Amino acid sequence: LIAAGQPTHALTTTCAYCGVGCSLETEVKGGQLVRLTPSRAGGANHGHACVKGRFAWGYATHPERVKQPLIRDHITEPWREVGWDEAIAFAAAGLRGVQARHGVGAIGGIASSRCSNEEAYLVQKLVRAVFGNHNIDNCARVCHSPSEYGLKAAFGEAAGTQHFDSVHAADLILVCGANPTDAHPVFASALRRRLREGAQLIVIDPRRTGLLDTLHAGEGLHLAVRPGTNVLLLNAIAYTLIEEKLVDRDFIGARCDEASWLSWHDFILLLEHAPEAVEGECGVAAALIREAARRYGRAANAAIYYGLGVTEHSQGSSAVMALANLALATGNLGRDGVGVNPLRGQNNVQGACDMGAVPHEFTGYRHVGIEEVRASFEAAWGVQMPEDAGLRIPQMFEAALEGRFLGLYCQGEDIAQSDPDSRHVHAALMAMEFVVVQDIFHNETARFAHVLLPGATFLEKDGTFTNAERRISRIRRALPPLAGMADWQVTQALARAMGYPMAYGHPSEVMDEIARLTPTFAGVSYGLLDKLGSVQWPCDANAPHGTAVLHATAFSRGLGQFNNTPYMPTSEAVSRAFPLLLTTGRILEHYNVGAQTRRTANLAWVDRDHLRIHPQDAAARGIRAGDRVRVASRMGQTELDAQVTDTVQPGVVYASFHFPQSGTNVLTTLNADWATSCPEYKVTAVEVERSGRD
Ligand code: SF4
Repeated sequence: LIAAGQPTHALTTTCAYCGVGCSLETEVKGGQLVRLTPSRAGGANHGHACVKGRFAWGYATHPERVKQPLIRDHITEPWREVGWDEAIAFAAAGLRGVQARHGVGAIGGIASSRCSNEEAYLVQKLVRAVFGNHNIDNCARVCHSPSEYGLKAAFGEAAGTQHFDSVHAADLILVCGANPTDAHPVFASALRRRLREGAQLIVIDPRRTGLLDTLHAGEGLHLAVRPGTNVLLLNAIAYTLIEEKLVDRDFIGARCDEASWLSWHDFILLLEHAPEAVEGECGVAAALIREAARRYGRAANAAIYYGLGVTEHSQGSSAVMALANLALATGNLGRDGVGVNPLRGQNNVQGACDMGAVPHEFTGYRHVGIEEVRASFEAAWGVQMPEDAGLRIPQMFEAALEGRFLGLYCQGEDIAQSDPDSRHVHAALMAMEFVVVQDIFHNETARFAHVLLPGATFLEKDGTFTNAERRISRIRRALPPLAGMADWQVTQALARAMGYPMAYGHPSEVMDEIARLTPTFAGVSYGLLDKLGSVQWPCDANAPHGTAVLHATAFSRGLGQFNNTPYMPTSEAVSRAFPLLLTTGRILEHYNVGAQTRRTANLAWVDRDHLRIHPQDAAARGIRAGDRVRVASRMGQTELDAQVTDTVQPGVVYASFHFPQSGTNVLTTLNADWATSCPEYKVTAVEVERSGRD
């Protein structure tokens, strides 16, 4: 119970944390929230919620919320509180000023994967139709952009193939580079239930994750891969599938591109991909690799779930394609219990990409260079747009340091804390002439901003989120926006102040426009969502109630495509000075940069980041549990509390990144995925030494 009294009404909404997208019931009395509970009707959660979602109301009602627009002429000056009109006019003049001095392409925007589909759509429309360029990106750049690339290349659709309930038909579950117990807890419960019913488990991860504890010792397989060698290991699994004749030739013949199969078949059978050849480098015994391949290849239904431990590498896109190759080779696609499924981190990171908040694609993943697609948007929006893709977030930083990109509108994203090599990001933000930040709290990025506009929480606005299973669910306004405007209203006010007519009366009108311009959303409307509760895209005339399983009879691209995935070792190597490999990730109680969870009851349970280190490595350095330790990489250094645990392998350390004072990302490098520029957060060579004891 949040406030006293009997609620007068209840609304169904969607959790604004992770990509599971749990439905929640908000019970309201007057202008106050009385209760927030998981909804039994939720298609993704069936009445469950985790510790993050249950306490999500805490940040919405936190006293540190930004309640009024703030402006300043220079980032060294104190903020001035102003009204919305003055702030919007100031922001518009500042951004136009940068363009007048440096050109149309000198500004851009970052949409939020925490905001709604409608808001992401409006930010990319603002950039394309009003700024006049394609310099738009979102946080998928630093998390799942390789999923978009790899899944589209293999199957033709930049999204997971299944619905969550599909896992109940899986006989084998392969979890690669993901820790759903902490990061996707409600889906982890479904996974555990299926494991207790007898499904087999393979975990590919440098850490021993909680899912393995569901089973009796020895039942699950743990392939404790050395950070940075996923592609090598997955190619070795593929080698075993082919060599031991565990592939499904009927499926390949009927559903896959034959030339790509033959090319991949020959590529994989190179001796350098044999398990015995790779075990030394990837740190997993050949016998274990072969056993994993046999179990995956022999299962009637084998499902793959993966996370940022796959994507956040210099070979992230290759690893996604390597996973897709396994599913194609064994026919594990197109029905319940199988598939390749990214576990998306943020509540609406799937949606932000679906909405075209990326520099190369409009809504529905259609390239800006395709004349006919661009023409349809130009006609609808009444503008002309360039045919070349815009800048990705890392390219914005580079261009800022070169004096070519000097103005930014950043909605609901804390790039100064969350992006790799913080010093580089801070220098880029310092180099910009005008930065507009919109957020619910003062964040690290706002330290470099000239305008800070209040954001609205998920409880204060209408809209939709799209979760990891492509499920579009409503969020419903239970409280008035604390500062008087929801984010979608602010974006369109900025567009109007910059001279473009944008006047939606309600987010449902934005969704209607999205549906008109996006084939995969053609059947989506608020009316349908009210009727069905939620719907999975594609939703169109052929699938008026949406699509639970993709690629059932044919792939979106026609035939499935095998992609060769040569292993290229990361340039981030251990040395005498930096002998350990750091990998980073989330913990159960906190979410991303922690701006929200640090302002909820979750803070009472965990109030700082930790470094997990193997007992052997700890003993060699005189480190005991609870010690303050200095962690240094080639990029920078920070201090964390040590947790001594054998859940990490010797030679590997693990840290979370939820607290700005820890600044874990001062350590991470600028290495990035070859295809999408997704940063390599998961491999950083470090040294650890004791700096004190609490
Ligand atoms: Fe559900 Fe994720 Fe929210 Fe937890 S954080 S309640 S698993 S959506």
